[in-house]
Amino acid sequence: MSESMTVDVLIIGAGICGVTIASGLEQVIPGQWVLMDKGRSVGGRLATRRIGMQTFDHGAQFFTVRSHQFTGLLRELLSANVVKEWCRGFQSADLSGPSDGYPRYAAIGGMNKLVKFMARDLPEQQVICGRRVVRLEDIGSALRAFDQDGGFIDARYVVLTAPVPQSLDIARDVLLTASCDDVVASLSSVHYEPCLAVLGTFETEYLPNFNTPVQCASGPLAFVSDNGLKGVSSSAGALTIHLSHDLSRTYFGQSDADVFTATLKALDEVFPVYKFRPVGDLAVQRWRYATPKTVFNSAFLEVPIGKKSESRPSRLFFAGEAFGGPKIEGAFLSGLAVRDRISEFGLALEE
Ligand SMILES: Cc1cc2nc3c(=O)[nH]c(=O)nc-3n(C[C@H](O)[C@H](O)[C@H](O)COP(=O)(O)OP(=O)(O)OC[C@H]3O[C@@H](n4cnc5c(N)ncnc54)[C@H](O)[C@@H]3O)c2cc1C
Repeated sequence: MSESMTVDVLIIGAGICGVTIASGLEQVIPGQWVLMDKGRSVGGRLATRRIGMQTFDHGAQFFTVRSHQFTGLLRELLSANVVKEWCRGFQSADLSGPSDGYPRYAAIGGMNKLVKFMARDLPEQQVICGRRVVRLEDIGSALRAFDQDGGFIDARYVVLTAPVPQSLDIARDVLLTASCDDVVASLSSVHYEPCLAVLGTFETEYLPNFNTPVQCASGPLAFVSDNGLKGVSSSAGALTIHLSHDLSRTYFGQSDADVFTATLKALDEVFPVYKFRPVGDLAVQRWRYATPKTVFNSAFLEVPIGKKSESRPSRLFFAGEAFGGPKIEGAFLSGLAVRDRISEFGLALEE
């Protein structure tokens, strides 16, 4: 990170929320924002990973569309061939009842491509990946965001889009110093469900028909999808298996080997007449913050930092799915709302 960088807006987290904000701000204050993520590339929980010859969606699997704003994005994504309608409902654990008539969409080639498409025109130098922001400090004229190596960026407005406990870790000191104990208390009350995602290739002849993915309302599994049949991977049998929140909680800190044993046992229990024979190694992705248990009833949280007398204090914004709604669409809507709010300051920023 440049030691002396100063921008108007720093966005922490390049998931769909952060990328939505950055794309909007580039229209209003070009060159005056930076988007930073600890991961290797943009995407966040819209995550796709290659293992050997196969490709797996291991975070979010699909999205639904309800709002007119997200419908607008959907149209653009469909016409650019970035997403497709995947199915209209899921099979339940007994492999029955596949359709409820409501479309579910998925990105062609992997969910990560959706966010990559949205970020395609962002200036490269303003999207900094592989940097973890560790803390914020109020330096009077701005907020200073330090990364893991002690580098920093100064910004008048800082938007935190990571899962709330991670955002709070970054902002706690600056909030407490600014006597925002109520904000800390409110953010501390947001807890998340974990999810263990087990990825592996299985012999196809013994598998259930996963043409339509399976979503389980109860039991040890939450979701099973075949990335080959979804069109993400080159051949069938490349399964993403999301364990239920309960089982994920139980096994979160256990070894990979224990997670695999529990997963194979759960598959046998849920699909007793089929056989799950892995070809090669399994892999596990641990999502500590998969889904928030509660969400705020506002699209973002705005916290002025600094003296009340200042006409233009620095501002912290907390955004993402815990505000807009616990899904991809909610994260996008939260991003739009923050973008609009900061755009209101656009002219002032240019002064
Ligand atoms: C296993 C799983 C399955 C899901 N299934 C679905 C589904 O099928 N449909 C659906 O609609 N939703 C689903 N979701 C939820 C959906 O993925 C999220 O609601 C959405 O992606 C959240 O987007 P976001 O931008 O708010 O946050 P994120 O995508 O989490 O982005 C936040 C970013 O912040 C970065 N970050 C965190 N800490 C720091 C730091 N200190 N410094 C710098 N960067 C940092 C992270 O690397 C991340 O990229 C699922 C989630 C999981 C985990």
